[in-house]
Amino acid sequence: MFAAMRSDKMQALHLFSDEATGLEAIIAIHNTRLGPALGGCRYMPYTSTDVACADAMRLARGMSYKAALAGLDQGGGKAVIIRPPHVLDRSALFEAFGRCIESLRGGYITAMDSGTSSEDMDCIAQQTGHVTSTSQAGDPSPHTALGVLMGIKSAVRVKLGQEGLSGIRIMLQGLGNVGYALAEMLVAEGAELLVADLDAGKVRLAVDDLGAQAVATDAVFETPCDIFSPCGLGGVLAPASIAQLRCAAVAGAANNQLSNQDAADLLDARGILYAPDYVINAGGLLHVSLTHQGVASGDIAVRVRGIGTRLDEIFSQSLKEGRSPSYVADHQAETILYGG
Ligand code: NAD
Repeated sequence: MFAAMRSDKMQALHLFSDEATGLEAIIAIHNTRLGPALGGCRYMPYTSTDVACADAMRLARGMSYKAALAGLDQGGGKAVIIRPPHVLDRSALFEAFGRCIESLRGGYITAMDSGTSSEDMDCIAQQTGHVTSTSQAGDPSPHTALGVLMGIKSAVRVKLGQEGLSGIRIMLQGLGNVGYALAEMLVAEGAELLVADLDAGKVRLAVDDLGAQAVATDAVFETPCDIFSPCGLGGVLAPASIAQLRCAAVAGAANNQLSNQDAADLLDARGILYAPDYVINAGGLLHVSLTHQGVASGDIAVRVRGIGTRLDEIFSQSLKEGRSPSYVADHQAETILYGG
């Protein structure tokens, strides 16, 4: 475990157990150079504690990079609660987790993530102030969508030389909390929208209410478009899917879109501009972090819109250096986190 921590430059790994509620939780703190670690809390079954620890560490590292490039005074961390087969009292379990967070005295701030809800965050808030995305703080998804919209505009500017999205054909994969909000924004900007989701009801809504064109979920990669926007699951950019893409750029909200680092080079080799996922999807983190710091909503929106400028810089450096945007973003984040 220590070797894994060293290779990820992980600062700390905390394990918690509470017999009364059945809680087994891990908090990974990657880097606090810029400020206290912030990152969501996952609640899902894991095959082993090692797998859960590896997931927490991988995600915590990603949060450090995301916060660094979003210009936040915030470090990276992540929590994982191993979902027990039977939960007697979910509220008590999350309250117990709140006490674990409190014991770290502000070194880690938690938030909603896969498998957790704002109601769970409300339970945590009974025990600690180091929690965001409670029902009072609101859903970060529309802010993530706004950041992605700005990123898509940046990609269109750089790759297609067009200001604005009028007539731009966008293939949107995933119409969830972020994807549907983004779909509404894209249509308002005059884009031509193609949509796919495993949930036929969401597709129907987008077709009926937004005038989108439905695409089968297994045809998203080969569908000709200007921008492919993955807003469903991660790992969608693998050698096989990249070979099928018929777009000028990939710019979407999904986390961990690249199946591995080679995928970034494959996109580059095909001349497809890639907006690094953790840069373009940082709107939700900006909202969560700055709301927690008491920043006014208008000022937060300005910061979220700044994601477009950040991507302009990454794209231009990528062109100048002949490196993929993904490489440039990682290098920028590592310079901020570890020094040049
Ligand atoms: P969500 O669960 O609300 O929506 C995901 C949608 O994608 C669902 O409608 C699902 O049916 C669809 N989907 C899944 N697999 C699909 C497939 N193969 N083809 C087509 N559709 C598919 O999730 P969300 O909150 O909208 O987040 C979307 C992505 O953005 C996730 O990867 C998430 O990690 C990432 N993200 C979200 C936020 C946020 O603020 N919610 C912030 C940063 C990153």
